[in-house]
Amino acid sequence: TLPLFAAAAQHARDNPNKIAVVDAAKQESFTFVQLLADAAALRKRIIEQLALTEDLDERRIAFLVPNGYDYVVTQWAVWAAGGVCVPLCTSHPVKELLYTVGDSDPSLIIVHPHFEKMAPALREGCTTEIPFMGLEPFSRNEAPTLPSFSPPFALTRRALMIYTSGTTSNPKGCVTTHENITFQASCLVKAWRYSPSDRLIHVLPLHHVHGIINGLAASFLSGTTVEMHPKFDPKVIWERWQEGGSTMFMAVPTIYSRLNDYFDAHIRDTEQEDAARAGARALRLVVSGSAALPTPIKSKFAEITGQTLLERYGMTEIGMALSCGLEVEKRVDGSVGWPLPGVEVRLTEKETGRTVDGVDEDGMIEIKGGNVFREYWRKPEATSSEFTADRWFKTGDVARRDLTGAYFIQGRASVDLIKSGGYKISALEVERKMLALDAIQEVAVVGLADQEWGQRVAAVVKFREGAVPLELPALRASLKNEMAPYKIPTVLKVVDGIERNAMGKVNKKVIVQKYWPDKA
Ligand code: ATP
Ligand code: MG
Repeated sequence: TLPLFAAAAQHARDNPNKIAVVDAAKQESFTFVQLLADAAALRKRIIEQLALTEDLDERRIAFLVPNGYDYVVTQWAVWAAGGVCVPLCTSHPVKELLYTVGDSDPSLIIVHPHFEKMAPALREGCTTEIPFMGLEPFSRNEAPTLPSFSPPFALTRRALMIYTSGTTSNPKGCVTTHENITFQASCLVKAWRYSPSDRLIHVLPLHHVHGIINGLAASFLSGTTVEMHPKFDPKVIWERWQEGGSTMFMAVPTIYSRLNDYFDAHIRDTEQEDAARAGARALRLVVSGSAALPTPIKSKFAEITGQTLLERYGMTEIGMALSCGLEVEKRVDGSVGWPLPGVEVRLTEKETGRTVDGVDEDGMIEIKGGNVFREYWRKPEATSSEFTADRWFKTGDVARRDLTGAYFIQGRASVDLIKSGGYKISALEVERKMLALDAIQEVAVVGLADQEWGQRVAAVVKFREGAVPLELPALRASLKNEMAPYKIPTVLKVVDGIERNAMGKVNKKVIVQKYWPDKA
């Protein structure tokens, strides 16, 4: 049987009352026993709907279900039926959903009542006839029975298709097997020591590796209870921390920035302050990833909560690969840490493919291990061009290592490595240093094509409310002590906000197109 199912059945047998999911929207808790029972029942419905007898045989099933217990049951039902889960992004407009549906070519689309309104437009937009199925929301069953059924499928079967965030081009469907998912989840369980006594507060989207693997799969594998919230609300999170009982939290940098801002605006200097700080301090582990964590966000969060955020690096294709350590001294500022157990990581020179071993030398990150995905869906050329001859996956990200072997991400080779006047400049490094200025709230650094320099360093900046916005000469002057002169931006665009995708990531190609269409 599949390891996630075997693990859930074991947790259920060890303790029939063990809670798998607390659903904050429903205000109900669901045991591992009920999860397995509900998934078995929905599995049957799916198979009947498709007029099959036993096995979906790797057919894709797309679903639009809000964060919560209903999502988990749907995902497990598709797996139990031998299908491939294609979770749709609940914040995408119909047009983007249609891209995912068109590309993944599902045999069935499951729509939760919460998204019923979108169903007609979705149905109309599909270019082929795809059956739809409604979902009956689940409620707590006081006496569920553990089903005898357990999915008999091979680990090498395709299980999940998640789309990349679409930061650099159209999202690509990344296919992973049950083996990949289990590997990705278990190396996190080992490194971060998830256990049945943990409780994770979960607010991340569930069409993305961060939520699906780090949030759900690793938790269920280890017997951690997941408290699921329909969406991120800083007020609710501060309250829940204060109420106690949870031990872990995982998010992206923008979420920590919003938690910090909410604390300043609504909690600092009120009678809640001490209790709120203490609640957050009691957590065992607070993780950040998916985009570079700006040092000011990290230090502010530490000032408020006493928590040092643990930063990790991963991507849709590989799950997680690098992580700082549980020990606080292994959470190095600006670093994403060391390879996770079982994951091989190397740096190579872009032009020659030669392995880079030196300290502080830039190289392309390449990955090998059971975590690495199977293929980009129906894109065999893209799949083969992303692997080296000796089967390492080329992430496209650039990093360097310090003496201890800790990795420092320099950014994506395609957009974050700016070449100006013969120098190579990391946009992420410039961003990090600019964010250290109090006046700057958000920044995206990009390279603009330039006759004389090859590229020029340009910054798109959102100044903090109430701060005096700087003109370019003043900005340059204030960065003089922070970085080498050739790294300091020579072009400045002041904006009200920087556009981000559902994962809080900035598409730099779009930014250049928008503000400097002739320099793209
Ligand atoms: P697409 O592949 O469609 O362009 P994407 O690469 O943003 O989108 P994801 O797989 O969600 O899609 O994101 C993985 C990327 O996120 C990594 O390749 C890396 O560039 C970035 N990333 C992840 N974690 C970190 C981190 N801690 N620091 C810096 N960058 C990170
Ligand atoms: Mg990518």
